[in-house]
Amino acid sequence: MSKSKQDKSERKSQRRPASGKRKASAERVLEGLGVSPGVAVGKAHVRESSEIKVVEYTVSSSAVEGEVERFDAAVQRARLQLGKLRQHAAALHGAAAEELGYLLEAHGQMLGSSRLIHGVENRIRKARQNAEAAVMKEIAGIAESFEQMDDPYLRGRATDIREVGHRVVRNLSDQGFTSFADLRSNSIVLAEEITPADTALMDPSKIGGFATALGGAEGHTAIMARSLGIPAVLGIADLLGAIQAGDVVIIDGDEGRVVINPKPSRLKQYAARQKALAREVKSLARLRDVAARTRDGERVLLQANMELPREVGQAVAVGAEGVGLLRTEFLFMNREDLPDEEEQFEALRGIIDGLGGRMLTVRTIDVGGDKLGSAFGRELEGTTNPALGLRAIRLSLKERSLLETQLAAMLRAAAYGPLRILLPMISTVSEVREVRAAMVKVARRLKRRGVKLPERNPDIGVMIEVPGAALAADALAQEADFFALGTNDLTMYTLAIDRAEEGVAHLYNPLHPGVLRLIQFTVEAGLRARLPTCVCGEMAGDPRYTALFLGMGVRDLSMTANALPRVKNRILKIDLQEATRRASMVMDQVDSGRIAALIDDFNEG
Ligand code: PEP
Ligand code: MG
Repeated sequence: MSKSKQDKSERKSQRRPASGKRKASAERVLEGLGVSPGVAVGKAHVRESSEIKVVEYTVSSSAVEGEVERFDAAVQRARLQLGKLRQHAAALHGAAAEELGYLLEAHGQMLGSSRLIHGVENRIRKARQNAEAAVMKEIAGIAESFEQMDDPYLRGRATDIREVGHRVVRNLSDQGFTSFADLRSNSIVLAEEITPADTALMDPSKIGGFATALGGAEGHTAIMARSLGIPAVLGIADLLGAIQAGDVVIIDGDEGRVVINPKPSRLKQYAARQKALAREVKSLARLRDVAARTRDGERVLLQANMELPREVGQAVAVGAEGVGLLRTEFLFMNREDLPDEEEQFEALRGIIDGLGGRMLTVRTIDVGGDKLGSAFGRELEGTTNPALGLRAIRLSLKERSLLETQLAAMLRAAAYGPLRILLPMISTVSEVREVRAAMVKVARRLKRRGVKLPERNPDIGVMIEVPGAALAADALAQEADFFALGTNDLTMYTLAIDRAEEGVAHLYNPLHPGVLRLIQFTVEAGLRARLPTCVCGEMAGDPRYTALFLGMGVRDLSMTANALPRVKNRILKIDLQEATRRASMVMDQVDSGRIAALIDDFNEG
């Protein structure tokens, strides 16, 4: 896209600030959750609903009532979304809270028994228009009548009706708002919400950073941002009211801060920070070929987590000794159909080739929770509590062809390099047995087909991320070939706190004694059964926790490649004997504040 065209489209997508007139140059500082470290400075790209495109078709008379129901469900979802946003707005201070509250209230009312709802239902029933097209036509008509009014306040409602309508259309079509392909380099993306699937479309050479109104620190959007190395701040309720496309924005992913139209002195300060960060990255790069050993000589295996195949080069470049977790959700994102065996095999084979003989740990699909794959259509929608529903291995065991296709692709890929299979969200031994039986069946079928297979079937590992699985680690150790500790979900399920929910993010604490005890229990069960036990949740990539893990007996950590050099640097400074003594002190504590203080004290000492 040419520069002038892009400038024009950015101006077109400018939002009216919620707080009315705002001096274009006034600096504003907004606080949120810093979920992906680093600093980015660039021009704002406000991801707008105006970019929505819908297809138009005629609904058969027998399908009309179903179409009305589909529309009603999308409206219901929009009401829930607005309710959630209103809650966040209420937590803000002063005028911003009031302003945003009114705006969201007005949007909510438009979704009540209004001209919009009746108009759309009429269009579906009488003109047999599909719901998306009916909404777009109805909002165009209403917006036009608002725009013709003399009262400037009422004229302003045209924007609101469009926003509300676009929200419903997004819910109807499950469409991501836009691809990010046309962005200029160093753009800062600002949006109400960015899903993990959106993040998969982000090119870090174009997108300097992003910020959103919704989202928690340990959700998958945050994980994707960290793995792509894109600084990000989530959970800023009044973000979109404060910003216009083209504004200069700083994203400070370390401090959880977004600065809009920064003063020259602040820009200077951040430029210095960026330089210091670049120096640190360069200096840590020299550790690439240094073995990860504690000061007293204990060897630690450092592996990479991968979300997307394109990360394999980065994993090797930072010196990862293998991939401890490949999340296969990427194969199912941003599409309406399911990938077949061949496509999955090719993707795995490409990664195996890139790893040059290093181990690849491939996890079967972990869809559900905050990872709703569009490829599964509405199958997973409407679940009252997706995190406790048909998620991960439960879906694979229900949809056998899904599991068998994945296993076939993995078995075939294992003929080209070391590969092991990991099962997400296991809670009972029978689930592992069922997968083993399925693998034997698939291997037999592949053999009959005459395809190349490995000499022996790959190892099967179990994710320990459900508290019940941690407590039954002894039993699971008898069925599994290895363990992978998923501390993200283990924390969420143990504390009953949604990892992707900004409203409870302050309560999400992996240092809670309950979580630490479950980790310890699992590590000890793994040691007793001589089972390799890797920690692959986000805690593994935080150097703050490295000494604690080593002291607990962990010798295998897998993390986003960008975090690996810092963790290695920490390991080189640790005295294992001392770390073991400190870990046992930590495990004696009952209070997470005291635990955090002991850990910080040890790290700083
Ligand atoms: C975890 O839960 O810690 C984990 C590694 O899996 P995911 O983050 O993909 O749920
Ligand atoms: Mg998990």
